[in-house]
This record gives sequence, C-alpha cells and structure tokens, in this order.
Amino acid sequence: MKPVMVIGGGVAGIQAALDLADRGLEVHLVEKTPSIGGVMAQLDKTLPTMDCSICILAPKMIECFRHPNITIHTQSQVKEVSGGTGNFDVKVLKEPRSVDESKCTGCGICSQKCPTKVIDGWQEGLTTRKAVYIMFPQAVPLTATIDREHCLYFQKGVCQVCSKVCPAGAIDYEQRPEELNLNVSSIVVATGFQEYDPTELKEYGYGRFKDVLTAMEFERLVCASGPTGGHLNRPSDNKLAHRVAFVQCVGSRTHKKGYPFCSSVCCMYATKEAVLIKEHDPTSEVNVFYMDLKVFGKGFQQFVNRAKSHYGVNYVRGRPGEIRMNPLTNDLTIWYEDTANGDVSSMEADLAVLCTTMIARPENVELAKALGLELDEWDFFKSLNPLTNPVETGMPGVFLCGCSHGPRDIPESVAEASGAAACAAEVARRFM
Ligand SMILES: Cc1cc2nc3c(=O)[nH]c(=O)nc-3n(C[C@H](O)[C@H](O)[C@H](O)COP(=O)(O)OP(=O)(O)OC[C@H]3O[C@@H](n4cnc5c(N)ncnc54)[C@H](O)[C@@H]3O)c2cc1C
Repeated sequence: MKPVMVIGGGVAGIQAALDLADRGLEVHLVEKTPSIGGVMAQLDKTLPTMDCSICILAPKMIECFRHPNITIHTQSQVKEVSGGTGNFDVKVLKEPRSVDESKCTGCGICSQKCPTKVIDGWQEGLTTRKAVYIMFPQAVPLTATIDREHCLYFQKGVCQVCSKVCPAGAIDYEQRPEELNLNVSSIVVATGFQEYDPTELKEYGYGRFKDVLTAMEFERLVCASGPTGGHLNRPSDNKLAHRVAFVQCVGSRTHKKGYPFCSSVCCMYATKEAVLIKEHDPTSEVNVFYMDLKVFGKGFQQFVNRAKSHYGVNYVRGRPGEIRMNPLTNDLTIWYEDTANGDVSSMEADLAVLCTTMIARPENVELAKALGLELDEWDFFKSLNPLTNPVETGMPGVFLCGCSHGPRDIPESVAEASGAAACAAEVARRFM
C-alpha cells in the first residue's frame, strides 16, 4: 500500500500516525517545528485526570520515533499538492537544522557554550534559550537546531563555538533547504491551533503589566520544567503569587475585538490551573471570573465541584471590565460586575491569568490552498459535515482531526485522530 501523510505532530497527529503505522502502513509525519509534541508537550498537568502531561505524551512521541513505519520530517511544511485521492503528489520543504541529525546525540554541549541568548518561544517568552538549542528536554528527535536568525555565524560570520565544542562533529553550517517529493494515498491534517494574542484588549493590560499572563504562559510558570522550576513567582518582582485571578472568555464569545465562538476547553483548564495553585499552596486565594461554566464532559461537573468544595477555589460570575496595576507595589486591581448580584466591585491580585481563545493558525490559509480544502470564517479547516462526517473534508482522501478544525480538548482530539486514521487507511487499501 502507498504511504499516508500526517500534517502536524501534536497529540492528534501523533495518534493518527501511530494508528496508521500499527495497521502496517508507511507514514510520513510532517511537523513544522524542530520537534513533535505540539501544545500538549507544553502543558503542566492535563485534566481531568491531572496526569503530568509530558509523562503521558513522551512515550507516544518516542514510539513514533522508533516505529519502523513512521518517518518524521521536522522543520518541514507542505508547499504543493497535486493529484487526488489514492494518488497525491506532495512537495514538502524541509528547512535546514544546520545540525546533522544522524550525528547529533542531544548532549546539549553546543547550547551550554553558545554565547547568544534568545527569547524562548517554547517557554512562552518567560525565559531565554541559546541560538543553538534543543526545543525542550523530551524533544523528539532529541537533536539540536541552529536558529539562523540569531546565530552570530549566520548573521555576522563570527563565532562557530558550537562547531568547535560539538563532540560528535554534528554542526553543519552548509545545510540547505531540502525539497521532498512524496507520493501518498491519503492525508490527515492535524495542524492544531494557536492562542489569541490579547494585547489589543487594552483594558486587561496584557503586554503592559508583567503579571498579566495568558493561560499558556501560566502553564509554563507552574511547571517544574518551567522558568521558575514550578514556583509561582510573579514575573514583575519574583514575589510569590498568593492571590491569583483567572479571567475567562478573553477574546472569545464576543462581537467586539476577538471571536464570537466559545473556545470550549477554557472553563476546564482554568479550573485545572486553579486547583494546581491550591495544591502548591492551600492558603492561596484563587478566583475564577466566568460568564457561564461550560462543563459538559464526563466527570467535569464533579471536577469543578471539587475545586470549589475541596480546594476552596472561588467562582465569580462576571467578565472583568478592567485590570489596573499599582506602580508602587506591582499589585493588580481587577474591576468587575458580579452579575449574580449586580454589584460593581474590585479585587486585588498578585497575578491575573487570561484564558484566551484557541484560534486557527495563519498557515492554514496556504495549506488549504495547496490541499484544495475549504476554511470556515475563522480559518479553521471545514469538515464535510460536522454532524455526520466530522473528520472528512470536501476533498476525498483528506481528513481532519484535533484543533485543526476548531477548539477541542485532548481526549476529543485523540478520538478524532483514530477516526481520521481509520478513514485514511481505508483509502490506502482501496487504492492498493
Ligand atoms: C492553556 C491551555 C491548557 C490546556 N489544557 C488542557 C488539558 O488539561 N486537557 C485537555 O484535554 N486539553 C487541554 N488543552 C487543549 C489541548 O492543548 C488541545 O486539545 C491539544 O493540544 C490539541 O492537539 P492538536 O494535535 O490538535 O494541536 P496542537 O497541539 O496545536 O499540535 C499541532 C501541531 O501541528 C504543527 N503544525 C501546525 N501547522 C503546521 C503546518 N502547516 N505544517 C506542519 N506542522 C504544522 C504544530 O507545530 C504542532 O506541533 C489546553 C489548551 C490550552 C490553550
């Protein structure tokens, strides 16, 4: 049978690739960053089980890497697609790592000795990494990458320290972009989502006040492998954040700035993050501002009830109107109307966490053109029929899973991935 392509190496893409490979199909897993893993690799714990996120994901990432039927193409993106179901010709552009993957052992000596510090996007900008770096400790493949935009050698023709210290002789400044031409029977799109940038919502002060974070930034802050080793030190002055406020629906369910749809997982992940704070310090004060709680999954209501009754998380019904910062103390004041009783009031906090909506990735536009797929009005990929054919698309042989077609949680993304893999395998069999 011809191979199948999976585009996007988050938890959905990984699951789809494993399912296909276990059915005996050859899989090309195309991921645009230097490692597979996606957003799940960045999370501290996952609800509703509160398992360590990377502990659940890492074995799947390694299984993907070791599976004889899976080829992982990192730093790669689909550029052109021709043909049709059973016979797609796909042009993939692989950016150079400037490190020979077959030689690099992932020892990290190059990173230790590299003199150039760069804002670390994987740690949500809360700390720095080096210009030659391994994306995160559990990265797959565990291979260094040179960030050419910041590397002194590529920018100014000086340095080359990494090449001098690499014991494996893996640094390769001469690598060029590579074009791969792959013929596949079917394609699974698992390109996920990105977080809405709340800077335009001036009333919340994101970008102006250091202690106003997004929920993804909070995930890194609270994580033991994060910039503070999991201590809830607020970024402005390193003081322990004792009073934390979560603001729900930031950029979602609005007709002003932002998006009208519900981001569907924020009520639950805010509850998870609130519980995590209470587990770190039971005496902390945690308030969750919400419009209405969408806790529709199995066991979710019990999870929220437990957050309230067992951990003492306080839920306030209302969307805050403004966050102000006291320049003398760095403390935040949150102004809100409690819509349960109509009171306009304010609350002090050390840290505010904005639960921003999950939006489509901008690359979807180009990818949709290449694949001949339709996007919805917010640039998520469109299912053939969200009720009866949720993983199928208007293009026979191309299937969707995970957040590539809208916000959803990990269990739903994984279930869909198995569905998309089953459909893709069926096409591969039909066109043997
Ligand atoms: C703050 C926060 C906390 C959360 N907590 C939980 C939780 O506790 N439990 C839970 O169930 N869910 C949680 N979620 C939701 C969860 O993150 C998603 O359900 C899950 O990450 C979706 O996986 P995915 O594979 O569809 O997408 P992603 O994780 O976004 O992965 C997509 C992958 O595709 C790659 N990619 C994108 N475009 C391209 C392209 N054009 N070509 C090649 N590769 C591409 C990306 O680099 C990425 O690796 C949380 C979400 C947020 C924002």
